[in-house]
Amino acid sequence: MANLSDVIKIDKLPEKAIIPMRQHDGIACAPLVKKGAEVIVGQKLGECEGSDLAYVHSPFCGTVDSIEMMPNPSGKRILSVVLTPSECAQTVDFVPEKDASPSRLIEIIKEAGIVEYYEKPTYLALKPGKRIDTLLMNATFPLITHAYLGSIDKVLKGLSTMLEASGIPRGVIVVRADDKESIKAFKAASFDGKPLTVAPIIGKRHADYYLEDVEDQIIVVAAGKVTYTPTMMNLLSADVMGRKIPLGRQPPDVHVVVCGVKSAKAVYDAVYEGKPYLENAVTVTGAVNRPGTVFVRFGTPIKDVVNACGGYKGEPGKLIINGSMGGIAVYTDEAPVVKNTTGIVIQSKEEVIRDEATACIHCARCVDVCPVNLLPTRIASYADLGKYEECEQLYAMNCIECGACAVVCPSKRHLVQLIKYSKLQINNMVAAEALEEATE
Ligand code: SF4
Ligand code: SF4
Repeated sequence: MANLSDVIKIDKLPEKAIIPMRQHDGIACAPLVKKGAEVIVGQKLGECEGSDLAYVHSPFCGTVDSIEMMPNPSGKRILSVVLTPSECAQTVDFVPEKDASPSRLIEIIKEAGIVEYYEKPTYLALKPGKRIDTLLMNATFPLITHAYLGSIDKVLKGLSTMLEASGIPRGVIVVRADDKESIKAFKAASFDGKPLTVAPIIGKRHADYYLEDVEDQIIVVAAGKVTYTPTMMNLLSADVMGRKIPLGRQPPDVHVVVCGVKSAKAVYDAVYEGKPYLENAVTVTGAVNRPGTVFVRFGTPIKDVVNACGGYKGEPGKLIINGSMGGIAVYTDEAPVVKNTTGIVIQSKEEVIRDEATACIHCARCVDVCPVNLLPTRIASYADLGKYEECEQLYAMNCIECGACAVVCPSKRHLVQLIKYSKLQINNMVAAEALEEATE
């Protein structure tokens, strides 16, 4: 019987690897290779200039078949280098660095193309241009965290290297209070020759409460039973640090930055082994024969990951990337796993709800369940009418995309989709205003 904590290795090369030139929320890279080129593992495939970039490296040896617009888990088509991978294991020279200065460490992290689970390049996340006193490492995705527990010393070293690079004085690792496996592993680990302790977050005993008493640079806290997804970073900061973030602001506004477990491990690999960012742990759940966590090289099509998990169980109805609540449905399993992919959920044909939405009956159930006290029905109605300023005034940007409102809605209204769309339009409005101001 398969265990969800099993870490599955993909032992077969994909027929094609699709390596997008943009795998984060920022500038797209320009390809550095042409059709017919032979590439090796770790070779830089894409480069760009600007302030928000993440270089792209090849996780495979192989031959470039084409450079074209290809399906992507973002739902868009993105310029990608399409490779036929080969069995050759040749790599570029991985050159580890010892005794690098903080500014050099930031440069190494940038060169390695490391990206956070919320799509920001790690070198930028660590240096937001504000006074930061705490780096939170979000280890509340239990299955992802479990995949890295075998490398716990490297994760801790990576985290301390991030502190050194950024000048942030302390790190707080956040695990779920019900994740016994991670808590046991962190309790058995040590940092700087001292065993780590795992402290509970209870009432007003936030991380600061413990940090005041200890001189440790890194502590572990167990907070509730919540998995803090990318849209819940403000909630993470409030729950763990007791610092509520004003509307429209982000964790750095309350002196906090957030990183993931996988980026801490990737920082270790980049600095101490000289390797660029080439693979991640990804959970595969739902209608699949062998659910589990898979280490996947970026560019591997979703269908190859599913095959490594024993294939689809029955006929697939929907593929959802990064969680069934706030994730995004992709229309093809040819789309590749990319740097911010953390999970693939497969819904069978029978599980996919295709009810027709009907008119709102004003029952207010959606309002009652919203964990951040929004008016989902009103925001969705304005979004449907294209009135995005009104959506903004109703704090649509605070929606954490948990999906609770849509679950309880008896009229099956597409509340989350509409609210997500309004957020996109609000961001577009803000960007257009900024551009207008800059060109005046
Ligand atoms: S998805 Fe719905 S319930 Fe969840 S935060 Fe957004 S509006 Fe509230
Ligand atoms: S739960 Fe559905 S029907 Fe009820 S108020 Fe909200 S949107 Fe309207």
